Amino acid sequence: MATAVMWFRRDLRLSDNPALLDAVTAGDGNVLALFVLDPRLWDKAGTPRRDHLVASLRSLSDAIGGRLVVRHGDPADVVPAVAAEVEAVSVHISKDYGPYGQRRDAAVEEALECPLVTTGSPYAIAPGRVLTQQDRPYSVFTPYFRTWLEHGWRGPVDAPSKVEWVKAKSEKLPASDAVAGEDAARKQWERYLEDVSEYGEVRDRPDLDATSRMSVPLKYGEIHPRTMLSDLAHKRSKGAEGYRRELAWREFCADLLARNPEAAWKPLRPEFAKMEYDEPGDAFEAWCAGKTGYPIVDAGMRELAATGFMHNRVRMIVASFLVKDLHVHWKYGARWFMQQLEDGDLASNSLNWQWVAGCGADASPYFRVFNPATQEKKFDPAGEYVRRWVPEFGTPEYPEPIVDHAEARLEALRRYDAIR
Ligand code: FAD
Repeated sequence: MATAVMWFRRDLRLSDNPALLDAVTAGDGNVLALFVLDPRLWDKAGTPRRDHLVASLRSLSDAIGGRLVVRHGDPADVVPAVAAEVEAVSVHISKDYGPYGQRRDAAVEEALECPLVTTGSPYAIAPGRVLTQQDRPYSVFTPYFRTWLEHGWRGPVDAPSKVEWVKAKSEKLPASDAVAGEDAARKQWERYLEDVSEYGEVRDRPDLDATSRMSVPLKYGEIHPRTMLSDLAHKRSKGAEGYRRELAWREFCADLLARNPEAAWKPLRPEFAKMEYDEPGDAFEAWCAGKTGYPIVDAGMRELAATGFMHNRVRMIVASFLVKDLHVHWKYGARWFMQQLEDGDLASNSLNWQWVAGCGADASPYFRVFNPATQEKKFDPAGEYVRRWVPEFGTPEYPEPIVDHAEARLEALRRYDAIR
């Protein structure tokens, strides 16, 4: 009797999972579902990501009759050991394009005695596939997006119908109160689809709480973007088109990181290696704690600490403030975000930080410095978002601004002039 191993990673779902279908075929229906809690990833993740992951694993296990096999350890030891226990014919994965994931999978493949079979990825179009007519990768988003649309993607595939989930010893999962998993993701998406036509008008307004929050289920692969794109294709509205564009940003970030693994922590524009930054001292601490005296910045940082989420517009404002008002290197902010965010994703995080810091591909020009007060007036016009997170704003308890924005802006421009 053949058995195949399905090694789940960032694809914690049964439907629209081509790697799982391949495992079912290879194992003649007998599949061992494996998840490895890898200390190298677990130790770096903050509480929101750990809680979500655990809840999602419980949900996946429930969906397969409690048969998910969870083991702790280095995947290069654990995966071959589990494959040997069941004499697996093959181990199946969907491709990870992150720098660590690529190294880990190469080590697992080397250690395995059976084939490691890769099918699909967490993207509608895998990194490296969207190319110019000269077969070169894109560095600018708009032409990438045009080609991405023209390239197109396959339709979603169904969940496998008949699987015998193979039993094996499994370790206990830590506790988690989070609600997560494929069914929750699907419901969240279906609810959001009813409002997607308004996406363009409301997407920049943190006070309205009107974006989809699908970044979280996408991060864990509880839903595949192809499923979402297929649903969006039936919605002929400007909002649906705008939403599709944002999903393409996610893929553009992944494409950039797959080609430039060092972009996780190093600027893509080489001249920025010489940029003068300040050490992350008290000002950085005040930024992390949401005590800068700039209400929209503080509101965002407190929302992040309290919920593991921050609205995209506010992510841009707080990131700009750290880099251009406090003159702290973006990598410190990116690291803080990765610890705090439930949707923390190396590609989307680092490349967006680079975009704000002006040192990325197709980045926002460095000399365009966000003015926090103007941003607040425009995107939180009645001050509701600020009141929600900074209730003491306007009272003597609220701190004075830690820097003068006008002076800090000039200093940022001076430093930029020095590297141009
Ligand atoms: P929606 O507005 O509903 O967007 C729909 C989907 O499109 C999102 O779920 C996401 O998958 C994708 N998307 C939207 N904007 C972007 C973008 N700028 N870049 C890439 N994908 C996008 N996103 C993450 O998923 N993980 C991160 O770690 C992350 N870090 C960020 C750091 C900074 C400094 C900035 C400026 C942005 C970051 N983003 C990150 C992108 C974006 O802020 C979030 O994807 C978005 O806020 C998630 O909320 P939503 O699902 O309600 O978004």
